[in-house]
Amino acid sequence: MQFKTQNKVLIIALIIISNINCNRKTESMQFKTFVFSPFQENTFVLYDETKECIIVDAGNFNESENEQLDAFIKENELKVVELVNTHNHLDHVFGARYVVDTYGVKGACHPDDLYWIDNFTTAAEGYGLQIEKEAPKPEVMLNHGDVFKFGNAELEIIHVPGHSPGGIALYNKKEGLLFCGDILFHGSIGRTDLPGGNHDDLINGIKEKLFVLPIETRVFCGHGPETTIGYEKASNPFLR
Ligand SMILES: [Zn+2]
Ligand SMILES: [Zn+2]
Repeated sequence: MQFKTQNKVLIIALIIISNINCNRKTESMQFKTFVFSPFQENTFVLYDETKECIIVDAGNFNESENEQLDAFIKENELKVVELVNTHNHLDHVFGARYVVDTYGVKGACHPDDLYWIDNFTTAAEGYGLQIEKEAPKPEVMLNHGDVFKFGNAELEIIHVPGHSPGGIALYNKKEGLLFCGDILFHGSIGRTDLPGGNHDDLINGIKEKLFVLPIETRVFCGHGPETTIGYEKASNPFLR
């Protein structure tokens, strides 16, 4: 009898705890990852309980990928308030024209990466891709130290040149999440042989600006799987 009562108490306690956890979850920034285009680029939709969302790096490349993005936004009743480019390499802006036209956003990036937009169709031709429409030029400029806000969420802008001159990482301190484009990868770093690349800048930038974040920070890269600051600090062979 006593055992049963204890069980009841335990069950009630568990229900209360799980409810608290559920509530916490709805009050935090969440995200959805898509892998788009032949470049296997990671596109993210960041959103919170206000239903406002931003798209980070629209890599959607064809109609089917546009539809996947739209379906998620529609199903979750989200309102797209901005498109943020971690940098403007073509694989990260394939879908920028579609997103800007469909959702009426301005686009945002670091000013040092604007010049890539002018070279978008030429760069695509270099990969054997025929692209009819130019990529839209972002109108909102994000600089190091800026705080980008949407809904109740805040993203700190961390400028790390080297892969691309205007490469930025978006840091959500509250949830311990970092969206870093092609700056840092699981066990690797971004290539530095493209125009404007600089190996030393990239290494120093990662060490000085990203490796100072808490080790448990989850890192979401422009390609490949997620990692953490702690894991990369301990084992990334490029950053010893
Ligand atoms: Zn890149
Ligand atoms: Zn990329």
